[in-house]
Amino acid sequence: MTTISVLRTDPATVNSAIITGSSGSLIVDAGPCPDTGRHLAARAAELQAQTSGPARTDLVITHDHWDHCFGAAALLEAGGDRAFASSSFATDQAASTWLALDALRHDPATADFASQLPLDPSELFVDVTAVDSSTQHVSGVDLGDCWAEFHVLGGHSTADLIVRLPESGVVFVGDLVEEGDPPQAAADSSLSQWANSLRRILDFPEATTFIPGHGVPVDRGFVQRQLGDIDGMRLHQDDTEVALPARTMPGDHDRRVPLEFSLS
Ligand SMILES: [Zn+2]
Repeated sequence: MTTISVLRTDPATVNSAIITGSSGSLIVDAGPCPDTGRHLAARAAELQAQTSGPARTDLVITHDHWDHCFGAAALLEAGGDRAFASSSFATDQAASTWLALDALRHDPATADFASQLPLDPSELFVDVTAVDSSTQHVSGVDLGDCWAEFHVLGGHSTADLIVRLPESGVVFVGDLVEEGDPPQAAADSSLSQWANSLRRILDFPEATTFIPGHGVPVDRGFVQRQLGDIDGMRLHQDDTEVALPARTMPGDHDRRVPLEFSLS
């Protein structure tokens, strides 16, 4: 049986996930620092040992923002096999890592955290199996009793990769969806591409549960509302009064950090 664990870590209250199948595991996003990467690798090995014994553990990175990928090199060193990411991630990795490290060191809010990171950006680089954005051939990994497929979309960053589990109706959407805080539109965002990506995600007929990069799991209605927000922002970009709102899922949710919870 496939199990899905979502792990929430600080800083940035970011979600990573471990999908444990009968013949392999897939970790979605490596978290913000080497410690998180090592923890995810160790936890994936424990979860695999509880099911079918040692197996391949791969990593897939949703986009090249530090909170999702700075744990990647440590995760691979601690036992991860391949790292999948968009071909754009592979091309931009050196520059985006350098820029993010520099920004983290110079922001007083993150300077303490940044002091735990390597001085040399290259220590955070990973060899990537590049996933291209072609829709002709859908790539992914076979975890035995679960197929996880990768789709390169875009909008939040220059290339956002989402992970779809067609048999369980779950989609890991990275920061294309954000719950609890406003979606982050920065210099590398494209609102029109972003809206198209959300439409593509909503076109997956089986998808009922979407795991955002930050916040609690959301449903189709939430993604639909966020698509409306992004589209509204796109159409009124010149209006400085327009900002992306923070949406929250209705109901009570455990928002502790750190936290691990399972979906199945
Ligand atoms: Zn993020």
